[in-house]
Amino acid sequence: MDDVRCKMELLLDTRAPITRSVSMLRTVGELMGLDKRVIAELICPQEVVVFRVPTKTLGKVMIHWGCMCLHNNARGPYKGGIRISDGVTVWDTIELARLMTLKTAVVDIELGGGKTGIRVDMPRMYDVFGRTPRDREFERIIRLDTMESFAQNFRDVFASHKYIPAPDVNTGGEEMAVIFNQTMDPASVTGKPRGVHGWLPGRKQATGRGCFEISRIACEEQLGKDLSDCTVAVQGFGNVGIWSALYLHDYGAKVVGVTDSRGGAYDEKGLDVPSLIEHKRTRGMVSGFSGEIDNRRLLELDTDIIVPAALGNAIDADNAPRIRTKMLVEGANMPVTAEAMDVLKRRGVIVIPDIIANAGGVIASMEEYSRSLSAIKMAEETVFKVIEERISRSYLEALDLTNQHELTLPEAAIWMASERVYDAMGKRSLI
Ligand code: NAD
Repeated sequence: MDDVRCKMELLLDTRAPITRSVSMLRTVGELMGLDKRVIAELICPQEVVVFRVPTKTLGKVMIHWGCMCLHNNARGPYKGGIRISDGVTVWDTIELARLMTLKTAVVDIELGGGKTGIRVDMPRMYDVFGRTPRDREFERIIRLDTMESFAQNFRDVFASHKYIPAPDVNTGGEEMAVIFNQTMDPASVTGKPRGVHGWLPGRKQATGRGCFEISRIACEEQLGKDLSDCTVAVQGFGNVGIWSALYLHDYGAKVVGVTDSRGGAYDEKGLDVPSLIEHKRTRGMVSGFSGEIDNRRLLELDTDIIVPAALGNAIDADNAPRIRTKMLVEGANMPVTAEAMDVLKRRGVIVIPDIIANAGGVIASMEEYSRSLSAIKMAEETVFKVIEERISRSYLEALDLTNQHELTLPEAAIWMASERVYDAMGKRSLI
């Protein structure tokens, strides 16, 4: 592949990092018999904007920066979340946008892929405003003010449905309502909170619901047992982690460990997840609920399933040899690095890839977008049924492909997605 460079790299006079999706698209693309130039086009984003976000907050003007990557819209409008984090980089944003293209394609919904990252250095905000200790209300104000400034700048992109954003790390319904206030168009943004024009019952729970459904199906298919007989650990206790843990617990699986960025909770007899959620709501962390566990130990637990639902690259070449779980259900985006994938493959650890496992959110977003003007609300259970059907269909198709071509499940998912994106690009003369 080295001879075929993405045209954007030439323009930037730099090499793009060989991320997990890049290396998998190359490997799988070659197995599919795709031309190297086609593979480069599937990898390359269609538009990348690096922008400044001057934000008036608590009487001062703060300057943040961000990146919006519109990766591919061959199959529908660019779709992907907005994250606020001090770790945002351009290349990460491109990788996450590429994953959205693959995700919408593998679960076969008529949307493309995009992503936005806004880099907000929260520790610096505490310094600037002379605040200690941690204050969740202060952080909320910073995020909402930043989002308002960002949404004003990009109002036309959202109002035209060129790019339809949604929540991601450190953003949620409130931030999406800020975007809606700018466009006054219910189809311009998904993940809107209950009661805001065009909101969808079940959207908030959707990603976790999907993680639960895929865990249930994959347990039967690949572990040969019922999920209610399984032990589970969940890394990350935000939107994805909380709902995943709750549905797994409600079904009867034993959730033995949970971590967030400030510590963990462990009980080999199984945690009382609803009480843990209440503990997290009042204390702001899971630590202090029961036995303690740190992230390193949690990922190395000998469980049936681990759901990494925090940030990317949690499982890398370093800790992959110590992973003892039978199955990793990727709730987060790219929690397993490319190098770790190879190690896990050799060790026989099943990886249910992010583009299927955490697609519940974008499947619900498709419903929210397409029904946003309807006076008839979909029932939450109907939304969950759509998620279950879409996710299980793509999982079973991918599983079938693993046998036909001797692929891993993540490779099979990339195969299915690439085929669909390439087909649409061809039909629209985009390639
Ligand atoms: P969130 O901000 O609501 O929660 C993230 C959680 O991870 C928090 O509990 C945080 O404390 C924890 N965390 C951060 N660093 C950690 C660490 N080092 N160890 C343990 N925990 C840590 O974010 P979210 O929306 O739940 O997203 C989580 C992941 O899922 C991200 O990778 C995101 O891109 C992906 N994802 C989210 C959605 C969605 O609908 N929200 C959809 C698809 C994928």
